[in-house]
Amino acid sequence: MRKKIVAGNWKMNLTFNEAEDLLDEIVDLLENETIDAQVIVCPPYPYLEMASDIAKESNFFVGAQNISPFEAGAYTGEVSSSMLTSMEITHCIIGHSERRKYFNEDDKMLTAKINQSLEHKIIPIFCVGEALPEREAGDHFEVVRHQVRHGLFHLDTDEFEKVIIAYEPVWAIGTGVTASPEQAKEMHDYIRSLIAERYGKDIADKTIILYGGSCNSKNAKEIFAQEGVDGGLIGGASLIPEEFLAICKAAK
Ligand code: PEP
Repeated sequence: MRKKIVAGNWKMNLTFNEAEDLLDEIVDLLENETIDAQVIVCPPYPYLEMASDIAKESNFFVGAQNISPFEAGAYTGEVSSSMLTSMEITHCIIGHSERRKYFNEDDKMLTAKINQSLEHKIIPIFCVGEALPEREAGDHFEVVRHQVRHGLFHLDTDEFEKVIIAYEPVWAIGTGVTASPEQAKEMHDYIRSLIAERYGKDIADKTIILYGGSCNSKNAKEIFAQEGVDGGLIGGASLIPEEFLAICKAAK
Protein backbone atom coordinates (compact mmCIF):
# COMPACT_ATOMS: atom_id res chain seq x y z
CA MET A 1 0.00 0.00 0.00
CA ARG A 2 1.57 3.26 -1.09
CA LYS A 3 1.40 6.26 1.22
CA LYS A 4 -0.16 9.41 -0.20
CA ILE A 5 2.12 12.44 -0.27
CA VAL A 6 1.37 16.12 -0.73
CA ALA A 7 4.38 18.35 -1.39
CA GLY A 8 4.19 22.15 -1.59
CA ASN A 9 6.56 23.87 -4.01
CA TRP A 10 6.73 27.52 -2.97
CA LYS A 11 8.99 28.41 -5.92
CA MET A 12 10.61 31.88 -5.66
CA ASN A 13 7.90 33.48 -3.54
CA LEU A 14 7.55 35.22 -0.16
CA THR A 15 9.77 37.32 2.08
CA PHE A 16 11.32 35.79 5.19
CA ASN A 17 8.52 37.11 7.42
CA GLU A 18 5.82 35.96 5.03
CA ALA A 19 7.42 32.52 4.89
CA GLU A 20 7.49 32.36 8.69
CA ASP A 21 3.80 33.33 8.86
CA LEU A 22 2.88 30.72 6.26
CA LEU A 23 4.80 28.00 8.11
CA ASP A 24 3.09 28.98 11.38
CA GLU A 25 -0.30 28.80 9.72
CA ILE A 26 0.49 25.40 8.20
CA VAL A 27 1.58 24.12 11.62
CA ASP A 28 -1.66 25.37 13.23
CA LEU A 29 -3.82 23.86 10.54
CA LEU A 30 -2.00 20.51 10.52
CA GLU A 31 -2.23 20.32 14.33
CA ASN A 32 -5.98 20.59 14.34
CA GLU A 33 -6.70 18.14 11.53
CA THR A 34 -6.21 14.48 10.86
CA ILE A 35 -4.11 14.22 7.73
CA ASP A 36 -3.43 10.78 6.31
CA ALA A 37 -0.91 12.00 3.75
CA GLN A 38 2.75 12.71 4.36
CA VAL A 39 3.19 16.47 3.98
CA ILE A 40 6.36 18.03 2.54
CA VAL A 41 7.02 21.76 2.27
CA CYS A 42 9.66 23.03 -0.17
CA PRO A 43 10.50 26.69 0.56
CA PRO A 44 13.28 28.71 -1.08
CA TYR A 45 16.82 27.93 0.17
CA PRO A 46 17.21 30.84 2.61
CA TYR A 47 14.14 29.69 4.54
CA LEU A 48 15.06 26.02 4.80
CA GLU A 49 16.68 26.24 8.22
CA MET A 50 13.69 28.05 9.68
CA ALA A 51 11.34 25.54 8.08
CA SER A 52 13.39 22.62 9.32
CA ASP A 53 13.36 24.01 12.89
CA ILE A 54 9.60 24.53 12.76
CA ALA A 55 9.06 21.08 11.24
CA LYS A 56 10.79 19.45 14.22
CA GLU A 57 7.82 20.50 16.38
CA SER A 58 5.26 19.54 13.75
CA ASN A 59 4.41 16.70 11.41
CA PHE A 60 5.74 17.75 8.03
CA PHE A 61 8.98 17.23 6.16
CA VAL A 62 11.07 19.92 4.49
CA GLY A 63 12.44 19.68 0.97
CA ALA A 64 14.61 21.90 -1.21
CA GLN A 65 13.61 23.00 -4.71
CA ASN A 66 16.98 22.36 -6.28
CA ILE A 67 20.34 20.76 -5.59
CA SER A 68 23.82 21.01 -7.04
CA PRO A 69 25.00 18.32 -9.46
CA PHE A 70 28.44 18.65 -7.82
CA GLU A 71 29.75 17.20 -4.58
CA ALA A 72 31.59 20.25 -3.16
CA GLY A 73 34.12 22.92 -4.01
CA ALA A 74 34.50 25.91 -6.31
CA TYR A 75 30.94 26.17 -7.63
CA THR A 76 29.88 29.66 -6.63
CA GLY A 77 26.22 29.95 -5.81
CA GLU A 78 25.56 26.23 -5.59
CA VAL A 79 24.10 24.31 -2.65
CA SER A 80 25.21 20.72 -2.22
CA SER A 81 23.29 17.66 -1.13
CA SER A 82 25.52 17.19 1.89
CA MET A 83 24.73 20.76 3.02
CA LEU A 84 21.03 19.93 2.84
CA THR A 85 21.50 16.67 4.71
CA SER A 86 23.42 18.51 7.42
CA MET A 87 20.36 20.77 7.86
CA GLU A 88 18.03 17.76 8.12
CA ILE A 89 16.40 18.48 4.79
CA THR A 90 14.87 15.22 3.66
CA HIS A 91 13.63 15.79 0.09
CA CYS A 92 14.51 17.74 -3.02
CA ILE A 93 12.59 18.57 -6.19
CA ILE A 94 14.73 17.66 -9.21
CA GLY A 95 13.95 18.25 -12.87
CA HIS A 96 11.08 20.69 -12.42
CA SER A 97 10.03 21.97 -15.84
CA GLU A 98 10.92 25.53 -14.81
CA ARG A 99 14.49 24.44 -14.17
CA ARG A 100 14.62 22.44 -17.39
CA LYS A 101 13.34 25.48 -19.29
CA TYR A 102 14.97 28.52 -17.65
CA PHE A 103 18.21 26.92 -16.47
CA ASN A 104 18.74 24.48 -19.34
CA GLU A 105 18.86 21.47 -17.08
CA ASP A 106 19.34 18.50 -19.36
CA ASP A 107 19.37 14.75 -18.83
CA LYS A 108 23.05 14.69 -17.95
CA MET A 109 22.74 17.37 -15.30
CA LEU A 110 19.58 15.85 -13.86
CA THR A 111 21.22 12.44 -13.61
CA ALA A 112 24.09 14.03 -11.67
CA LYS A 113 21.59 15.76 -9.35
CA ILE A 114 19.71 12.52 -8.77
CA ASN A 115 22.99 10.76 -7.96
CA GLN A 116 24.10 13.49 -5.58
CA SER A 117 20.79 13.52 -3.74
CA LEU A 118 20.68 9.74 -3.26
CA GLU A 119 24.30 9.62 -2.21
CA HIS A 120 23.48 12.01 0.62
CA LYS A 121 20.18 10.41 1.60
CA ILE A 122 17.97 13.15 0.17
CA ILE A 123 14.81 11.75 -1.39
CA PRO A 124 14.45 13.15 -4.92
CA ILE A 125 11.05 14.21 -6.19
CA PHE A 126 11.81 13.81 -9.88
CA CYS A 127 9.52 15.80 -12.19
CA VAL A 128 8.56 14.73 -15.68
CA GLY A 129 5.92 16.00 -18.08
CA GLU A 130 5.26 17.06 -21.62
CA ALA A 131 4.72 20.56 -23.02
CA LEU A 132 1.48 21.46 -24.80
CA PRO A 133 2.78 21.09 -28.39
CA GLU A 134 4.12 17.66 -27.45
CA ARG A 135 0.72 16.56 -26.15
CA GLU A 136 -1.03 18.07 -29.14
CA ALA A 137 1.30 16.14 -31.45
CA GLY A 138 0.55 12.93 -29.54
CA ASP A 139 4.15 12.70 -28.34
CA HIS A 140 3.43 12.90 -24.61
CA PHE A 141 4.17 9.24 -23.81
CA GLU A 142 7.42 9.34 -25.73
CA VAL A 143 8.55 12.54 -24.01
CA VAL A 144 7.80 11.21 -20.55
CA ARG A 145 9.39 7.85 -21.36
CA HIS A 146 12.57 9.64 -22.39
CA GLN A 147 12.63 11.74 -19.20
CA VAL A 148 12.01 8.78 -16.90
CA ARG A 149 14.53 6.52 -18.66
CA HIS A 150 17.30 9.07 -18.95
CA GLY A 151 16.77 10.60 -15.52
CA LEU A 152 16.31 7.49 -13.43
CA PHE A 153 16.88 4.16 -15.12
CA HIS A 154 20.63 4.17 -14.55
CA LEU A 155 19.86 3.61 -10.85
CA ASP A 156 20.03 0.18 -9.32
CA THR A 157 16.93 -1.15 -7.60
CA ASP A 158 17.95 -0.09 -4.09
CA GLU A 159 18.51 3.46 -5.26
CA PHE A 160 15.43 3.63 -7.47
CA GLU A 161 13.18 2.52 -4.61
CA LYS A 162 13.90 5.80 -2.80
CA VAL A 163 12.75 8.03 -5.65
CA ILE A 164 9.40 9.83 -5.83
CA ILE A 165 8.20 10.74 -9.31
CA ALA A 166 5.93 13.72 -10.07
CA TYR A 167 4.04 13.76 -13.35
CA GLU A 168 3.58 17.45 -14.15
CA PRO A 169 2.28 18.24 -17.61
CA VAL A 170 3.93 21.56 -18.40
CA TRP A 171 0.70 22.93 -19.88
CA ALA A 172 -0.97 22.49 -16.49
CA ILE A 173 1.69 24.16 -14.32
CA GLY A 174 0.52 27.55 -13.10
CA THR A 175 -2.03 27.83 -15.90
CA GLY A 176 -5.26 26.97 -14.08
CA VAL A 177 -5.75 24.16 -16.61
CA THR A 178 -5.56 20.82 -14.87
CA ALA A 179 -5.08 17.45 -16.50
CA SER A 180 -8.32 15.53 -16.32
CA PRO A 181 -8.34 12.71 -13.77
CA GLU A 182 -8.34 10.31 -16.74
CA GLN A 183 -5.31 11.98 -18.35
CA ALA A 184 -3.45 11.87 -15.05
CA LYS A 185 -4.31 8.22 -14.47
CA GLU A 186 -3.35 7.26 -18.01
CA MET A 187 0.12 8.78 -17.67
CA HIS A 188 0.66 7.46 -14.14
CA ASP A 189 -0.23 3.97 -15.37
CA TYR A 190 2.16 4.40 -18.27
CA ILE A 191 5.03 5.52 -16.01
CA ARG A 192 4.35 2.57 -13.71
CA SER A 193 4.47 0.20 -16.70
CA LEU A 194 7.90 1.58 -17.66
CA ILE A 195 9.11 1.00 -14.11
CA ALA A 196 7.71 -2.53 -14.14
CA GLU A 197 9.59 -3.26 -17.38
CA ARG A 198 12.85 -1.99 -15.92
CA TYR A 199 12.64 -2.99 -12.22
CA GLY A 200 9.76 -5.47 -12.02
CA LYS A 201 6.14 -5.22 -10.88
CA ASP A 202 6.84 -5.22 -7.13
CA ILE A 203 9.02 -2.11 -7.37
CA ALA A 204 6.56 -0.47 -9.79
CA ASP A 205 3.73 -1.09 -7.31
CA LYS A 206 5.75 0.54 -4.54
CA THR A 207 6.81 3.64 -6.47
CA ILE A 208 5.08 6.85 -5.46
CA ILE A 209 3.93 8.93 -8.42
CA LEU A 210 2.48 12.37 -7.66
CA TYR A 211 0.43 14.57 -9.96
CA GLY A 212 1.27 18.27 -10.32
CA GLY A 213 -0.30 21.06 -12.35
CA SER A 214 -2.92 23.54 -11.14
CA CYS A 215 -4.07 21.22 -8.41
CA ASN A 216 -6.39 22.97 -5.96
CA SER A 217 -8.95 22.31 -3.26
CA LYS A 218 -11.67 21.81 -5.88
CA ASN A 219 -10.01 19.25 -8.13
CA ALA A 220 -7.59 17.45 -5.77
CA LYS A 221 -10.05 14.90 -4.43
CA GLU A 222 -11.02 13.58 -7.84
CA ILE A 223 -7.45 13.46 -9.16
CA PHE A 224 -6.07 11.80 -6.01
CA ALA A 225 -8.91 9.25 -6.10
CA GLN A 226 -7.51 7.78 -9.32
CA GLU A 227 -5.79 4.46 -8.80
CA GLY A 228 -2.09 5.09 -9.32
CA VAL A 229 -2.15 8.78 -8.37
CA ASP A 230 -0.42 8.93 -5.01
CA GLY A 231 -0.92 12.58 -4.13
CA GLY A 232 0.31 15.86 -5.52
CA LEU A 233 3.10 18.34 -6.04
CA ILE A 234 1.41 21.67 -5.45
CA GLY A 235 2.69 25.06 -6.60
CA GLY A 236 0.47 28.14 -6.31
CA ALA A 237 -2.10 26.58 -3.98
CA SER A 238 0.60 25.64 -1.46
CA LEU A 239 1.04 29.35 -0.67
CA ILE A 240 -2.53 29.62 0.60
CA PRO A 241 -2.79 27.80 3.94
CA GLU A 242 -6.47 26.83 3.71
CA GLU A 243 -6.06 25.63 0.12
CA PHE A 244 -2.98 23.61 0.98
CA LEU A 245 -4.72 22.06 3.97
CA ALA A 246 -7.76 21.11 1.89
CA ILE A 247 -5.48 19.47 -0.69
CA CYS A 248 -3.64 17.60 2.09
CA LYS A 249 -6.99 16.39 3.43
CA ALA A 250 -8.03 15.23 -0.03
CA ALA A 251 -5.08 12.84 -0.18
CA LYS A 252 -6.22 9.67 1.54
C1 PEP B 1 4.57 23.11 -9.64
O1 PEP B 1 5.21 24.15 -9.77
O2 PEP B 1 5.14 22.05 -9.37
C2 PEP B 1 3.12 23.18 -9.81
C3 PEP B 1 2.45 22.07 -9.91
O3 PEP B 1 2.58 24.44 -9.88
P1 PEP B 1 1.02 24.81 -9.87
O4 PEP B 1 0.36 23.94 -8.81
O5 PEP B 1 0.98 26.25 -9.52
O6 PEP B 1 0.48 24.50 -11.21
